[in-house]
Amino acid sequence: MEQFICNRCGKKHDITPNRWKCECGGVLNIVKDSPKIDVAAWNNYPNTLWRYFETMPFAKDSKTWESVTMGEGQSPLIVLDPMEPNTYVKIDYMMPTLSFKDRGAVVLMTKAKELGVSKVIADSSGNAGTAIAAYAARCNIACDIYLSDETSPKKIAQIKAHGATIKEIHGTREEIAAAAQKAVDAEKVFYASHVYNPYFYEGTKTYAYEIYEQLKGAPDALIIPVGNGTLVLGAYYGFKELFESKLIEKIPKIVAIQAANCAPLMRAYENGLEIAEPVTNKGTLAEGIAIAAPARSRQILEAVRETNGLFIDIKEDEILSARAMLADKGFYVEVTTAANYAGYLKYKKAPDEKIIIPLCGAGIKSK
Ligand SMILES: *Cc1c(COP(=O)(O)O)cnc(C)c1O
Ligand SMILES: [Zn+2]
Repeated sequence: MEQFICNRCGKKHDITPNRWKCECGGVLNIVKDSPKIDVAAWNNYPNTLWRYFETMPFAKDSKTWESVTMGEGQSPLIVLDPMEPNTYVKIDYMMPTLSFKDRGAVVLMTKAKELGVSKVIADSSGNAGTAIAAYAARCNIACDIYLSDETSPKKIAQIKAHGATIKEIHGTREEIAAAAQKAVDAEKVFYASHVYNPYFYEGTKTYAYEIYEQLKGAPDALIIPVGNGTLVLGAYYGFKELFESKLIEKIPKIVAIQAANCAPLMRAYENGLEIAEPVTNKGTLAEGIAIAAPARSRQILEAVRETNGLFIDIKEDEILSARAMLADKGFYVEVTTAANYAGYLKYKKAPDEKIIIPLCGAGIKSK
């Protein structure tokens, strides 16, 4: 049986429907042996992210995922501009709910279904809530989503359509998370959190496996937006497992992108800190990465440093011009995702460096 381990004090915990953090306040990881990836086994599964089922912490004979999947994963990897043949976009908004959060949500909700839960609660700046609501509907599990009253109306409409109950809160992203956590503890229900529940990262790590297959190897650098770090950590864990299984020779450099108006991780990185100090969100169009106090900051900073990566921050005017430039090349992305391209434009790449930019959210999701 799988277990959780506290990232702060090392205490182990059984995986139960109500366990989402350690008594000491630390966040939880899944206890794992060193990975032995069996690439040959991948062909025994459908061409979705479930191709990598055997790398995930489920019982090998578990079939729960088969009734939860909506065909997510295996998003296209495309050269953005023929003049720059080493720069690719991974079109990760080609997912059931139009953002990469489906990678994590489908795995997390599969685990929730295995645990037999009847209700979940989540908090989100929009896309994670949409993904959890969709997969909760698919699992016939009741769902409350806590979000800001300033969330894009289209994301709210999407969540409502799946039958989830919306709890609109007027407050900061941190106050919204606190309200959700209070309800989780009071109602004793499953916290389907993309931040706290490490099963989410078992889904986002498939981003790395797909790139490995599409490129027949690892790229040099990954541009990745970071708020709470679900794609940074997923990509890092995925490539790390490939590296430890001796399938690649190095883990790509992580170039992490924050909005200048809300950049606690960038500040911690520059100041040489191991944990990010909370900042005040000065307001940014990039709602999907506006996280002032990321709960997994220690792990995110470790991942970026261990890959010899760096942080880049993006100003508001750079976001909108990057969105227009992407649209000129045929890709209509949500505003937050434009920051990824703006980050690429600011990154001083080496000649012939192979770089991947994720297109995380679809344009029609934005205000
Ligand atoms: C969630 C999200 C992000 C940021 O992901 P984190 O897990 O908060 O780092 C970036 N872009 C889009 C479109 C998102 O939905
Ligand atoms: Zn602990």
